[in-house]
Amino acid sequence: MEPKLIVHGGAWDIPDEFVEDHLRGVEHAVAETFPLLQQGCSALDAVEKAVNLLEEDPTFDAGRGSFLNAEGDIELDALIMDGATLDFGAVCAVRNLLHPVSLARRAMHGDGFRFLAGQGAMQFARECGFQELDPCELLTERELALYRRLRDDRDFQPIKAFSGPSDTVGAVALDHDGNLACATSTGGTPRKHPGRVGDSPIVGAGGYADNEFGAASATGYGESILRVLLCRTACDNLNGASAMDAAGLAVNRLLDRGKGYGGVIVISRDGEYGYAHNTPRMAFCHADENGVPRPFIRIN
Ligand code: ASP
Repeated sequence: MEPKLIVHGGAWDIPDEFVEDHLRGVEHAVAETFPLLQQGCSALDAVEKAVNLLEEDPTFDAGRGSFLNAEGDIELDALIMDGATLDFGAVCAVRNLLHPVSLARRAMHGDGFRFLAGQGAMQFARECGFQELDPCELLTERELALYRRLRDDRDFQPIKAFSGPSDTVGAVALDHDGNLACATSTGGTPRKHPGRVGDSPIVGAGGYADNEFGAASATGYGESILRVLLCRTACDNLNGASAMDAAGLAVNRLLDRGKGYGGVIVISRDGEYGYAHNTPRMAFCHADENGVPRPFIRIN
């Protein structure tokens, strides 16, 4: 198979002044990762690597640059899934980690578990030798300013995610062997309740991968994405529809039945890219047929 890679950097009304950073960030993730896929690395390794790069980039709401919750803490969620085996690893409400998706990858091989939360996940991180950072190392000036603004906003409503920031990251890959994988990583939503977990670490919602159909990663308003299991819906749609239509139909359902906003990226088992969103903008990058990264902000 010809390898494929697509990443996203969130779906929202990305302001003009942030466009350049989003384009640069998603392009960097594909430029660094796609050559590895061409050299034979697995889809699973590729999605972890691409998401690691996006987690390191302060532009996005994942790893460094994540939103603060209502108490001023950063709590992170991540998922990784292997389309060959349907096995997955996930973590939620973890703190002080730059690469929660890599902890999710380790959880894939957990002894009697695949999905760990909070304290238990942090215990596992220590057992695995993950470096715990000072929380300040994940914090950016931009997010501190947003936290202070939202903290003082008496009319704050989480559902206004349509225009609010939504910078979760994700990657979907197809490797030489025809295996598909997806990964998603997030700091969740701004001013979320402590312990709130959205769609991102949930199989079928924030990501899904099945070699028999395709793989997907989502971003957007988690409570709505969960209602319609956006990524599983997109993969189910691949049974008969093109990858673009599968993504588009899933996003239609996100609005009609989920009553929410977001977007999804897809690769079909044949290596076809799909993407759709119902937010004003969404940041993407995929490797084209010559292996060249093609970053773009799609506008609705
Ligand atoms: N889906 C994420 C969540 O609800 C947020 C995002 O995509 O930006 O936690």
